[in-house]
Amino acid sequence: MSFDYDLFVIGGGSGGVRAARLAASEAGARVALAEEYRMGGTCVIRGCVPKKLMVFASAYPGMVDEARAYGWDAAIGAFGWAGFKDNLHAELTRLEGIYTRNLVNAGVQVFDTRAVVKDAHTVALASGEEITAKHILVATGGQPFVPEFPGSDLAVTSNEMFHLDALPKKMLVVGGGFIACEFACIMHGLGVEVTQFYRGAQILRGFDDEARGHVADLMRGRGVDLHVGTDVISMERVDGRIAVKCTTGHDDRFDLVMYATGRVPNTAGLGLEQAGVRLTRNGAVEVDAYSQTSVPSIYAVGDVTDRINLTPVAIREGAAFVETVFHGRPTVADHELVASAVFTQPELGTVGLTEEQARDREPIEVYSAAFRPMQSLFAGSDDRVMMKLIVSRETRKVLGCHIVAPNAGEMIQLAAIAIKMGATKEDFDRTVAVHPTMAEELVTMKTPTRVA
Ligand code: NDP
Repeated sequence: MSFDYDLFVIGGGSGGVRAARLAASEAGARVALAEEYRMGGTCVIRGCVPKKLMVFASAYPGMVDEARAYGWDAAIGAFGWAGFKDNLHAELTRLEGIYTRNLVNAGVQVFDTRAVVKDAHTVALASGEEITAKHILVATGGQPFVPEFPGSDLAVTSNEMFHLDALPKKMLVVGGGFIACEFACIMHGLGVEVTQFYRGAQILRGFDDEARGHVADLMRGRGVDLHVGTDVISMERVDGRIAVKCTTGHDDRFDLVMYATGRVPNTAGLGLEQAGVRLTRNGAVEVDAYSQTSVPSIYAVGDVTDRINLTPVAIREGAAFVETVFHGRPTVADHELVASAVFTQPELGTVGLTEEQARDREPIEVYSAAFRPMQSLFAGSDDRVMMKLIVSRETRKVLGCHIVAPNAGEMIQLAAIAIKMGATKEDFDRTVAVHPTMAEELVTMKTPTRVA
């Protein structure tokens, strides 16, 4: 049977674009890709990239405060949201253009429209046109989830945060995950009065407990009004503001309420189940280690599979798919020891097991240090950074590393190389410190803080 294309990719985000580009340019496949919104997907258009630019924008007031202690006659003026927003969107448009150009230069046929799966080898475009392909790759990502309750339609999500007409004076962030904590810090840094509600006992569930506590303390210390064990009951618009009723009596009025209560895979209306593709209970595409679905010609990568929902992981999954299907080299994307960073202020960088996970698996030593770093200490700040290693008592391998510090994301990337290579605590100890830095603590911690 002959097909219109060797590969049809649905979704122009990190995973889909990488797979399409590699299949076309390196494997010589005939490839098409459909994207219904903007090329680049969540990461480029409404996630990692604009978020990080907002993180940078929000850090300047703190820097200027610090500058005064270093002898500068410095004062911060007003923040111009409109000007920043223009620059931000110009940058996103530039990146979007690069993504499209890279695809076109690789020989990929791009369709700026929605595509759905019709059967094992056919997709239907919004125009009604049907296209056949030997393989279909579903890379449609995810979208924010907002629970339903009275007034929930008044909430915005991270999607809208990059398009606000003006910054609110006072806002509520609901959730305790990556996105909620990052936006609470960003908006606080931009001068917004921020309250954050999290339903559980401590934010950032799933991260190392000590690191979570450290981040929460610092967020509160900087002025985020964080309430744990608190959830919203209802919201209503009153006098142009949003009146929020909550479970703990901290009822208040806000100019903006942002929900960051998780994301759900984009599988609704995609025709997957009708085509025989099995979904998991939460609506993600069920795949095996090679990203193959229950229909052999259909694969899926990235957030739509709800494995590890991070851009670099989606990219690896896309590349592994191309190796497997177009180069005949069965390749599994490696989901072990994936480092990540939460871009709070300060950042949390993490790789490997938390203390709690490691303790449940084997006897461990924990090396942990919290100290006031030179730069902010000089400026009179009591902020502490945290460096932590979890070590196997049997193999001596470093099982996990957790850093709460300015630029922890940069540090954890490098620590992750050593840990991925199987470095032992003694390998860390043999490494001579770079002085004076914060990260030198990682190679100078001599005595376990505790054994478990
Ligand atoms: P997360 O899954 O990280 O966090 C969701 C938060 O919302 C949790 O605190 C959860 O509470 C809470 N929650 C869930 N449902 C409800 C509800 N019905 N009512 C109240 N609270 C609720 O999701 P995010 O949206 O923050 O991020 C999604 C994913 O995006 C992340 O997991 C991550 O993979 C990725 N991401 C990565 C970033 C990075 O690498 N820096 C940045 C941003 C996103 P509970 O803990 O009790 O379940």
